[in-house]
Amino acid sequence: MSLTIPALANKLAGLQSSAIRDLLKLTTRDDVISLAGGLPDGALMPRDRIALAAETALRDPAVLQYTESSGWPALREVIAARASAEIGRTVAVAEVFITHGSQQALSLLAEVLLDPGALVIVEDPAYIGALQVFRAAGARIVAVPLDSEGMRLDILEDLLAAGERPAVVHTVATFHNPGGVTLASERRRRLAKLAEEYGFWVIEDDPYGELWFDQPAPAPVASYSPQVIRLSSVSKILSPALRVGWLIAPERVCRAVELLKQGADLCGSSLTQQITADLLTDTPWLAAHIDSIRATYGTRARALTTALRATFADRLHCTDPTGGMFIWAEFTDDTNTSTLLTTALNAGVAYVPGAAFAVTNTADSSLRLCFTTSDEDTLTDAVTRLAEASRV
Ligand code: PMP
Repeated sequence: MSLTIPALANKLAGLQSSAIRDLLKLTTRDDVISLAGGLPDGALMPRDRIALAAETALRDPAVLQYTESSGWPALREVIAARASAEIGRTVAVAEVFITHGSQQALSLLAEVLLDPGALVIVEDPAYIGALQVFRAAGARIVAVPLDSEGMRLDILEDLLAAGERPAVVHTVATFHNPGGVTLASERRRRLAKLAEEYGFWVIEDDPYGELWFDQPAPAPVASYSPQVIRLSSVSKILSPALRVGWLIAPERVCRAVELLKQGADLCGSSLTQQITADLLTDTPWLAAHIDSIRATYGTRARALTTALRATFADRLHCTDPTGGMFIWAEFTDDTNTSTLLTTALNAGVAYVPGAAFAVTNTADSSLRLCFTTSDEDTLTDAVTRLAEASRV
């Protein structure tokens, strides 16, 4: 009998793991300082406080049970209160939907908001996890470049004037991954206005907003329009292992997301959602905890930019991050950062080449550097190694 091999769905044809991703597997070698990862610092995760919250939570047998698809009620209430303060209007619990990290919010929203072939506008460079979701949804993707003030709204306006009609505009408005920049206040207001004028949704993907260094980020894009769906999570302030994220959206969007969440995984974890609710309501503790992350990351970011400027001078331009986890840098002499990566790994330093995040622009001379998991001396050492590798 001959075997007939079953097929995978056609939509998978365009999805592939990149060569760069494969190279990055080498970054876990002990002799490599990795500025590639993009992980929050595990040493800053509140292990003891989480253990205490888990112990308390387990006294209630309900935390070992399934919960509502829209989320553990106590957590939804806390998030509604926090979101109300962030966006400056009362957010109802019905507008809060808890997801398995904000990544799941992106993936459920893509199903709810996009028909195959729908236009999605992303930033260039873009958050890879969003690109994966929109590609898998069969969207047509058009990219708008970033500058030092975030998404180039003049280019978005040109696209709209030329007749493009996006269903969704995705933005990492605050402390961009990978671009390191923050959307200026005036652009936030304009983006929300455009959404209302042209009838598209904005997804404001904001996992980094709390990680500001010297002053809070500008008011969220969502504070200017209910057509802005706001996503966040506790991954960068508590721990990504809790897998607790959320979206804030009009009730009809939340109801549609609920139908899909039921099919995806029934519900999130009652236990980790209760632990999260406990930590988020312990306000003096939480404020001090987040302050210590801000101080540590701020010092590391400054150490990295200082070393880059002292070492490369005009040969490399880099962003001055005001928060978040990333610096975006660009060689001014046509150094190809994908080619350089092999030499850099041999010299004991890793980063992610810009090409990994590029949509339309090539970003061949750019790179993303993550400063969260190395101390200042290690970051300086990493820059010395990068200079050695890139010596022309
Ligand atoms: N959005 C952005 C911009 C991210 O960088 C990430 C992860 N680093 C996520 C969403 C997803 O994070 P999580 O699912 O852990 O909330």
